[in-house]
Amino acid sequence: MAKIIIANWKSHPATLSEALKLARASDIKTAVIAPPYPYLKKVGTLLKKAALGSQDLEASPSELKSLKVKYVIIGHSDRRRLGDTDAIINKKARRALRAGLKVVLCVGENKATRRKGLSAAKKFVANQLKKDLAGIRASRFMLRDSLTIAYEPIWAISTSKGSRADTPKNAAEMISFIRDFLHSKLEIRNSKLLYGGSVTPKNAKSFLSQPGVDGALVGGASLNPRSFHAIIKAR
Ligand code: PEP
Repeated sequence: MAKIIIANWKSHPATLSEALKLARASDIKTAVIAPPYPYLKKVGTLLKKAALGSQDLEASPSELKSLKVKYVIIGHSDRRRLGDTDAIINKKARRALRAGLKVVLCVGENKATRRKGLSAAKKFVANQLKKDLAGIRASRFMLRDSLTIAYEPIWAISTSKGSRADTPKNAAEMISFIRDFLHSKLEIRNSKLLYGGSVTPKNAKSFLSQPGVDGALVGGASLNPRSFHAIIKAR
């Protein structure tokens, strides 16, 4: 099965015409494009092969669906920083799933936690999963493939100060832990697990070839079509 590559454009590009140009150049089968909300409608109309994603539950699920949105990213560290608690993230995830949208839930520890080691990171992420997915296991609306988890260690997400990806080995270990936790503690199966955090054409293959890594959530590198194509090719 093709690995899933999600382009999270965050607040870029600066204008609608640039966004449409970027969308045209990134319209690849099995890719998901998540533009900023103001461009969602026009980008959705343009895409022919890629699926449309929303960067949060930025409008009601039915409004998003009317804009052809298939995937909703929930729990991204930017939103958590703006005040989305685990309780809010849980509500959003349930609401989106109930409406038939596919949820991409982002989880990941901060630098202080990771400095304490992988066990501390696992504990932190397990706690996020437990709270963010509370009540979802038993739901009737939990369909096959409707939930994707993106492991995004916050410290690995690129910033204006630079970027530093996790090691593929540690990312794979965290992803394997998440998969086991979903199965054994939350009875959630069939979820795809992605890595996110400074994925570039240079390191994409080393992440995507790890066992259990079903794809990548890509921020900065998705803003350059050449880099995005190279990452897609690496899967
Ligand atoms: C992100 O913000 O979700 C992300 C993965 O960004 P980057 O690829 O730029 O680290």
